[in-house]
Amino acid sequence: THFGFETVPEAEKAKRVYKVFENVAQKYDLMNDAMSLGVHRLWKDQLLHVMHPQPGARLLDVAGGTGDIAFRFLEYVRSQQERQKRRAARSTQTPSWQDISNDYSKEDLERPRESTAVVCDINKEMLKVGKQKADSIGVSAGLSWVVGDAEELPFDDDQFDIYTIAFGIRNVTHIDQALQEALRVLKPGGRFMCLEFSKVTNPVLARLYDIYSFQMIPVLGEVIAGDWKSYQYLVESIRKFPDQEEFKHMIEEAGFCSVQYFNFTGGVVALHSGFKL
Ligand code: SAM
Repeated sequence: THFGFETVPEAEKAKRVYKVFENVAQKYDLMNDAMSLGVHRLWKDQLLHVMHPQPGARLLDVAGGTGDIAFRFLEYVRSQQERQKRRAARSTQTPSWQDISNDYSKEDLERPRESTAVVCDINKEMLKVGKQKADSIGVSAGLSWVVGDAEELPFDDDQFDIYTIAFGIRNVTHIDQALQEALRVLKPGGRFMCLEFSKVTNPVLARLYDIYSFQMIPVLGEVIAGDWKSYQYLVESIRKFPDQEEFKHMIEEAGFCSVQYFNFTGGVVALHSGFKL
């Protein structure tokens, strides 16, 4: 086809993906805002809302790029901690029925459990930009940055409470292999969460979305990043990715339980979730 990447053999895909993100790393955040009209922020916020992590949780964010998910995770956990402290302070002043429903223990409040987030990405340029961002906004505590492949994670078994992959899995060559690795590094009871472009369900919205993405995205790519090809790849990889039900089935096949998904923006993006038993 005229898209050029369609005929890329499997072995070439990883190299192409690496080049794409190496090229766009410096402009990646700006491009995300421009292309999604800022909406990627809401999708990411929504992911955290569904996740609802508690203090002490350990996150692995794979294909984490410039760290958006990890930053939100640490911020969310800290706000939970503050909330719990305030509630504890209130309940010592005026004992109430709420005391028995507190979801924290005395030890937690005296010595709060630290949450940690590991950002893992195959591309060191993306991680470099993320690390700089973390330093400049002062959220480096609890964060670590690791170069690694989703298909062969550099971590031991049963390490994490939550595994996230946002807009990353469609770039991976062997998705089943990445899912196996997610299952391996999660603790029993841990949760897999994947945010990815999916299939728009409403036919009118689908048509608009098609026009927008095929006509506009490569143009924006050229104008902002001077890189038409990379953004053509982006649009194409979205079209090739399995739809909601198909992907749900793949996650079940990998061995996850209670797999479900939520559509955001009419299915432009879907959040899939599953648990390791
Ligand atoms: N999660 C970030 C976000 O939501 O903004 C970044 C998403 S970005 C579209 C996709 C990322 O996947 C890139 O940083 C790329 O380097 C990474 N990636 C591609 N293939 C990978 C692989 N096999 N293992 C780990 N990361 C990979």
